[in-house]
Amino acid sequence: MKKLMLTLTILLGLAAAGEAKIKVVTSLSDLAEFTKAVGGDKVEVDFLVRGSQNPHYIEIKPSYMLKLKSANLFVTIGMQLEIWAPQIIDGSRNPNLIVVDCSKNVKKLEVPSVKVDASMGDVHPFGNPHYWLDPENVKAILQEILDNLVKVSPADAEYFKSNLKAYMKKLDAKMAEWMLLMSPLKGTKLVTYHTSFSYFVERFGLSVVGYVEPKPGIPPTPSHSTELIQLMRSSGVKIVGLEQYYEDNTPGQIAIAAGARLIRLCTSVGGMDGTGDYFQLIDHNVRAIVSAVKGS
Ligand SMILES: [Zn+2]
Repeated sequence: MKKLMLTLTILLGLAAAGEAKIKVVTSLSDLAEFTKAVGGDKVEVDFLVRGSQNPHYIEIKPSYMLKLKSANLFVTIGMQLEIWAPQIIDGSRNPNLIVVDCSKNVKKLEVPSVKVDASMGDVHPFGNPHYWLDPENVKAILQEILDNLVKVSPADAEYFKSNLKAYMKKLDAKMAEWMLLMSPLKGTKLVTYHTSFSYFVERFGLSVVGYVEPKPGIPPTPSHSTELIQLMRSSGVKIVGLEQYYEDNTPGQIAIAAGARLIRLCTSVGGMDGTGDYFQLIDHNVRAIVSAVKGS
């Protein structure tokens, strides 16, 4: 018996060694899901930013450097969403690490025509980086992930491609469903805290007419809030969509003063109950907006 156990242990050990997985660390939970979808059982994926955190600001922990130290790929959103990333990459001292920028083939919105002074606190110096909330943009992200997984393991290219196709098929089916739910809402105006939903609303034909923040990354001021309330009243805005990680005090007061509803929207997988995967995440946002419009 003892001998059999020993043989089994050796065999299992050999199997594990033969199937070394590609180690991937992603910044966001959403990117971890996309990487698992393409990489299947050939990848081991971890992510740094919890869904409930504001991805612009995270506290850097030594454990993040350790995670990157042994990784093959670090998959990021880019456009300086992860302004904290260079410090972690340097600290990881991993010369073989491939940093993947998923924004490479995405059509970017709100790209400033003049240089944005980041020292003033504007956190979108290269345009709006929240492109993963448009489900159509997920296709460019999946492709970028695939191209880089193939760099690490060319022999698995066909396997990755067929995984990507399967995920894309599911995405297309859900997209048709979301479009159907959102089509009666074309032209609906809303206000959000941060410019998190620019790509999302553009895809579904809604518009965000104002923000609780005066500029991306700049906290609300009383004068800006007063102007926003006036704007909401004059343009008939009935919804304030608040990202999961912001306090609701100021947005709540603004909503009451303007006669609007405050709803919670979610920007990342796992950020709220019932957003355990990307499909549920978009489902949550679509349904929250649809029911707010119906209820108003
Ligand atoms: Zn942002």
